Amino acid sequence: MGQALRSSEDPQTIGQHTLQELGDMSIPPVPPYYEVWFSHLERKNDDLSSEIDSAGASIDEMFLKNIHGKYFENGKTESNIDDYTAQLLLQTKNMKHLIENFDDSAKEFHKDLDDASVQMEAGNIDEQDPKVLLGTLLQTAQKAIERNAELEQNLSLASTKISSLQEAVEMIATDANTDFLTKLHNRRYFDNAFDQLLDSARISNEPLCLVVADIDHFKNFNDTWGHHIGDQVLKLVAGTLRENVKGQDLIARYGGEEFSIALPNTTLEDAVRLTDNIRVAVSKRKLVNKATNSELGRITMSFGIAMLDEKTTAEDIFQQADSALYAAKDAGRNCVRTHPECDA
Ligand code: GH3
Ligand code: MG
Ligand code: MG
Repeated sequence: MGQALRSSEDPQTIGQHTLQELGDMSIPPVPPYYEVWFSHLERKNDDLSSEIDSAGASIDEMFLKNIHGKYFENGKTESNIDDYTAQLLLQTKNMKHLIENFDDSAKEFHKDLDDASVQMEAGNIDEQDPKVLLGTLLQTAQKAIERNAELEQNLSLASTKISSLQEAVEMIATDANTDFLTKLHNRRYFDNAFDQLLDSARISNEPLCLVVADIDHFKNFNDTWGHHIGDQVLKLVAGTLRENVKGQDLIARYGGEEFSIALPNTTLEDAVRLTDNIRVAVSKRKLVNKATNSELGRITMSFGIAMLDEKTTAEDIFQQADSALYAAKDAGRNCVRTHPECDA
């Protein structure tokens, strides 16, 4: 499947084939599957394509999900948004074309009606065989009805396709901003949103704090219990962070086992209090391997906090929070440090 295409095809054509072939396999064109199949048809990744080729008829959603995890997990591409947008544009153009065609057939019908009424008004009706006139009108009307039915069917097909493409576009947009594992915002989203929070804080002259957090000795944890269990712990930490912040606060998995939290309208003192609550909540969570019901001990996290002042840029505040985090690690981990230093 999909071998007929060459990498020289333009992205729009590949996009169309991708949708078509996923549809033929009854696989929804949601971002991960679309991304895998698009890449396969593009034939730019030999390993990916040969895995798909050798899978033969056993390609299903689970298979594509695995391929996606293997080849794409960390590489969310914005180009897919462009592909989908191009597809939407194409569908919209098709609809416009259909409507214009319909317009032509309606115009033809109107013209025949007009001609007939002109003839009648001119008294020529007696010279024409009314049956012939009526026959022509009926034929035109029949044609218009048939075209109308065809148009309706095509319009409904096109609009279904547009809806599913719109959903896919929304999903890709969400995907591009979301961390695959924890479903928290990712670094890309956080950086953009943080710039905006920083601008608002300057305008409103309200305090803004940035917290960076890092799991302690996580390498040891992974080495002892395995990467898969480590992933579950990352999810658990994400949940604990979520539970401990308010609506306007912003959390992200900033990378690996590192998280960041922006606290708008929050003083350094309040940020320390909130962060310490998170620290305690994480350290108190008993980790249990659900499959074996065995206890995995506990984990702790270290935190660095910096507060915006008049002159700090986004880059400065990240550096300050990072150096506070290093200070927390130096101080023995499982603790909170700030920039500027205060009694934490
Ligand atoms: P420290 O207390 O100094 O932070 O020690 P550490 O072991 O946490 O730090 P180090 O930077 O040496 O190792 C980070 C580890 O985090 C390495 C890797 O095993 C783990 N890690 C990073 N990303 C992931 C992930 O997505 N899943 C899992 N399971 N582990 C991850
Ligand atoms: Mg780290
Ligand atoms: Mg760490």
